Amino acid sequence: MEQQLFHSVRLDSDKCQGCTNCIKRCPTQAIRVRNKKAYIISDRCIDCGECIRVCPHHAKYAVSEHFNEIIKYKYRIALPAPALYGQFNNLENVDYVLTGLKKMGFDDVVEVSKGAELISSATRMMEKELKKPVISSACPAVVRLIRTRFPNLIGNLIPLVAPVNMAAKIAREEAKKKTGLPDEDIGVFFISPCPAKRTAIKAPICLDESGINGAFAMKDIYPILFQTMDRLTPEEVELLNDSGIIGVGWASSGGEAAGLLKERYLAADGIENVINVLEELEDEKLNDLDFIELNCCTGGCVGGVLTVENPYVAKARIQRLRKFMPVSCNSLPEEYDVSELSWSKELTPSPAMKLADNVIKAMKMMTRLREIEASLPGLDCGICGAPSCRALADDIVRGYASEDYCIFHKVDYNNEDQSLPIPFRNKVINGENSEDKTDEG
Ligand code: SF4
Ligand code: SF4
Repeated sequence: MEQQLFHSVRLDSDKCQGCTNCIKRCPTQAIRVRNKKAYIISDRCIDCGECIRVCPHHAKYAVSEHFNEIIKYKYRIALPAPALYGQFNNLENVDYVLTGLKKMGFDDVVEVSKGAELISSATRMMEKELKKPVISSACPAVVRLIRTRFPNLIGNLIPLVAPVNMAAKIAREEAKKKTGLPDEDIGVFFISPCPAKRTAIKAPICLDESGINGAFAMKDIYPILFQTMDRLTPEEVELLNDSGIIGVGWASSGGEAAGLLKERYLAADGIENVINVLEELEDEKLNDLDFIELNCCTGGCVGGVLTVENPYVAKARIQRLRKFMPVSCNSLPEEYDVSELSWSKELTPSPAMKLADNVIKAMKMMTRLREIEASLPGLDCGICGAPSCRALADDIVRGYASEDYCIFHKVDYNNEDQSLPIPFRNKVINGENSEDKTDEG
């Protein structure tokens, strides 16, 4: 499937009230409201899940695999994201979680934190070849955001597979050796904290295939896993944990950077902070940094929309768990050929924001766009259903909207008849005509 057209974030039009709450939160301006209903522009959506967070009517949602999907396979492997460990209170040993997953119906469990330690190791090995400041590529929503809004920064991304792909590769190879089964009989499933990671699995943009058969939402797995763990006796718990502080630390913001043992790094989380950092990076204000870790969700993966726990609580729990762990359990041998873990497809800029393929035509459209934007009031009120006046101008120039979508378009702001009535003006705090300009008296 065309990568930009597959999405895990969906819209239930029946539930949408057209309130426009979501349009301004979308980092790629992918949402419009028309005729009291929201629409997602498919090739702009990066599946970050922000619109799910803000929709008060639950009209936006994320799709993931149904648990019954595992019965299609003879041998089933779970790949839990380290954020899963932060969902359980009083957890002192991740083996309870890993054994619980096996009791739920998986034949084996490979921690994504194991993959993370190996990717940290690979990044350290290829560091000299990377363009500084190096940007982490672990958050798939960040990779898509860069591709869509900041294509000039594509060359700064680490061109390595994500920890989940690394874990899947190990899981599949071990399963084939252990069982002798062919690939098609081995089902590998990720337990995901966010829709962006599922989309990256189902429609990868940097790989030919992810090696993963599907993703379960952490919040769907949680209730069954919680009950299963609750019934476990200490004797039943298997020794399955195979990662340490470095790998598990990837669950929250700053964890990946800590694993690289760098001093000059920056870790930002939350979509607005991420955008601010990318803008500064584009303006070459952060060139003194070696490494930049960015996570679209607040707090990192612990803040994904498919988790159940508050990200700060989950982060504190993981920090406590890490006290009982070794620093790291996995690293690549010195002679390892890191190129084996490189992206198999070149990451190219998304065409979603392009006005036209033809440069002359695109320039003419840009000139027209600027003229239209200048004629709009610049209020960015969203009443037209677009997130900003510029977005409406962009829609108009593409033929998707017209100027009369703006209800203020013909308003003359210098017309005395439309200014505040005099009795009302005197009651307005800091009003233009207020005589009292100071706090005194
Ligand atoms: S937030 Fe967006 S999707 Fe939700 S009801 Fe409002 S317009 Fe519809
Ligand atoms: S998932 Fe993110 S990019 Fe897609 S429409 Fe929602 S807010 Fe916009």
